[in-house]
Formats: sequence, structure tokens, C-alpha cells
Amino acid sequence: MFFHTHYYHLKQHVSDVSPLMAFGCVLPDLSLTKIINFDELHKEKLLSEFIKNLDSDIEKGIRYHNTLDYYSHIRYQNNEPGFAYLNIPNKLPLLVEKSLGIEKKVAHVVAHNFIEAGLEFQLLNKIQSYLWN
Ligand SMILES: [Zn+2]
Repeated sequence: MFFHTHYYHLKQHVSDVSPLMAFGCVLPDLSLTKIINFDELHKEKLLSEFIKNLDSDIEKGIRYHNTLDYYSHIRYQNNEPGFAYLNIPNKLPLLVEKSLGIEKKVAHVVAHNFIEAGLEFQLLNKIQSYLWN
């Protein structure tokens, strides 16, 4: 998922979000910058090593991040795969493959990002006030 969706998810579950929790809930996607790899803050084995010396609010934010990613990528409402993969329209991977000039297998993975981006777009359009409350 993307940053606003992660923050929205956190705010739906925690009434007193601290700045460190907000930071933690977007921190795992620092992997988009390639400063860290995706697994370092998303996979439990590596994550537990990383969070040993962290403030507990950052850890809490990271755990909310990974919960939402689990629903989006792995499993949602007792279905596999997660929400974003489950909702990829049949034609989308081919469109992604051709428009980006990437392999079919990679195109399917990238296609899920379009579903997540669409969700974030809808969220920002419908619930604009959540950021400021
Ligand atoms: Zn993530």
C-alpha cells in the first residue's frame, strides 16, 4: 500500500497516533528508495533484528504497516492472494507489460501497485479530512 493508506489504516485503529507511530507506519516502504531492501522491514525474521533498539511507537507503526501490506499482498477476508492482487482486472497485466516493456511475470506484480494507487486515490478523494484530525 501507499503512504496515505498506511496512515489512514493506523488512524482507524489507534486513537492517539504519535509522530513516531506515524513515522513507523510508512518506514518499511523506505525500500522504494533502495536504501534498504523490501525484506528488511517487511519480513519478521529481519524486522525483529531491526526493531530491537527502536522506540516502541515506531515498532507499533511498522507492525500496522505490515498488517495492511499482508491484507493487500497475501491474504484478505480469508482469500488468497491479498486485496490488491485479487482485484487485478484480467487485462491490466498485459497493459502494464506492454506500456512499461517488462516481462509478463513482473507485470503482474507491478499491476498490483496500480490497484493500490487507485485505492489511495479514492481514499484521498473521499476522506480528505483524515490527515488533519
Ligand atoms: Zn510495505
